[in-house]
Amino acid sequence: MTETTRTYDVIVIGGGPVGENVAERARAAGLTAVIVERELLGGECSFWACDPSKALLRPVVARADASRIPGLDPAVAGPLDVAAVLAHRDRMSSYWKDEDQVDWLNSVSVDLVRGHGRLTGPKQVAVHTPEGDTMALTARHAVAVSTGSRAALPPISGVDTVRPWTSREATSADQVPGRLAVVGGGVVAVEMATAWQALGSQVTMLVRERGLLDRMEPFAGELVTDGLREAGVDIRFDTTVTALAREDGEVRITLGDGGQLAADEILLATGRAPQTRDVGLETVGLTPGDWLTVDDTFRVTGVDGGWLYAVGDVNGRALMTHQGKYQARIAGAVIGARAKGEPVDDARWGAHAATADHAAVPQVVFTTPEVAAVGLTSREAEQSGRRVAVVDYDLAQVAGAHQYGADYRGWARMLVDTDRDTVVGVTFAGPGVGELVHSATIAVAGEVPLDRLWHAVPAFPTLGEVWLRLLETHRG
Ligand SMILES: Cc1cc2nc3c(=O)[nH]c(=O)nc-3n(C[C@H](O)[C@H](O)[C@H](O)COP(=O)(O)OP(=O)(O)OC[C@H]3O[C@@H](n4cnc5c(N)ncnc54)[C@H](O)[C@@H]3O)c2cc1C
Repeated sequence: MTETTRTYDVIVIGGGPVGENVAERARAAGLTAVIVERELLGGECSFWACDPSKALLRPVVARADASRIPGLDPAVAGPLDVAAVLAHRDRMSSYWKDEDQVDWLNSVSVDLVRGHGRLTGPKQVAVHTPEGDTMALTARHAVAVSTGSRAALPPISGVDTVRPWTSREATSADQVPGRLAVVGGGVVAVEMATAWQALGSQVTMLVRERGLLDRMEPFAGELVTDGLREAGVDIRFDTTVTALAREDGEVRITLGDGGQLAADEILLATGRAPQTRDVGLETVGLTPGDWLTVDDTFRVTGVDGGWLYAVGDVNGRALMTHQGKYQARIAGAVIGARAKGEPVDDARWGAHAATADHAAVPQVVFTTPEVAAVGLTSREAEQSGRRVAVVDYDLAQVAGAHQYGADYRGWARMLVDTDRDTVVGVTFAGPGVGELVHSATIAVAGEVPLDRLWHAVPAFPTLGEVWLRLLETHRG
């Protein structure tokens, strides 16, 4: 066992999409940077989350769209070619190898140390390498923790004994289970239920709540429920799981009402927990296992000296790659500015403040139909005490929807802050709405006055015409 020491301006623990971007932005600001990664450079998103899940879903969504187009529908009537879909997923996951990302890291002159990183004190990180060596790293300016999140398993009796699927297995499995039980009703649950039902599983969703996607506008969950049920998914609301056992190769599930269910695999899509149990937080006065609370420049609160940053899933602000990478751009820039003694612009919407985390977080749910949302929901607006007008429009009435496919079903909701006359939230649900989300994000983040939005003319005949209809509806 050998010990080495190295010093960098910035040390990033965790080389997921967010850590990679923190390091790259710090480098762009003229600082030296190193990433410590214990698994694959690219993190959860590239190998067990965004990329493989969207690769599984793209054929499902494309087929659903094609099946509504006269003349094309017979061509997609049969089942999916499962082997081809899984091969596509494997390719999109780079066969679980990270050489390309290592090449990119080299191209931006950021060093990589493979191994498990732990804080050992202020600006100090120890890395235990796979070879059994220890490397001591010292940061001149900052340490950024970007260790991401993991699936949070619920405390159900027997959960440790049944080898449940988490999002990792649901995105990387190479066998289609005959019967798949999915516990949960959030984004991972609905996306993976969509994918595996289309790949041939009989999916049963066990949902504690009264509806799916319960953090979004209710109509989104209702339309996704209809889509899943039409695809053959058995959805049971108000249903809790109290015990699990694996017997004779199958998972036996006991429900809160005493009912029983058997499945070949069970996916627990019951939320996320921060990867902070083993990062040495206790050495700097923080509690292992906690989400890391940060200010808008991503400095961890409660740590003297302001050298510790937490960026991406681990801070719990918005668990999505695009938002984490936005945070990384801000964090890298602010670390650079502070290191060079330059002014920090952390006012609302300033270059060094992640204001969008509070006001404009976009999200797309890749189901059939899709859901796309940004900003507040009507429930959040009500809770915030803002004066908001809720404007609804039936997306099926838009000319672009008629062209999109037969029997188009969808809905749109726009929330207008009536004091400022700007859009503060938008939700679309319907086929093809994912690509609408950035128009909504620009309206919300740009705080575009409605009088000016009126001059943003949507092209005919696209789904984007829903913007005009929403504005007309609002103006009465
Ligand atoms: C099924 C699923 C689908 C998703 N789909 C989407 C999507 O379509 N779009 C989207 O925007 N988001 C999606 N997400 C969310 C997205 O995956 C995360 O928001 C994103 O991966 C967070 O990036 P991160 O860099 O913060 O963390 P991670 O991607 O989790 O990366 C953290 C990295 O840190 C490493 N690490 C942890 N601890 C240590 C340590 N002590 N030492 C060294 N290395 C360590 C890990 O090995 C990992 O590589 C999805 C999530 C799931 C579960």
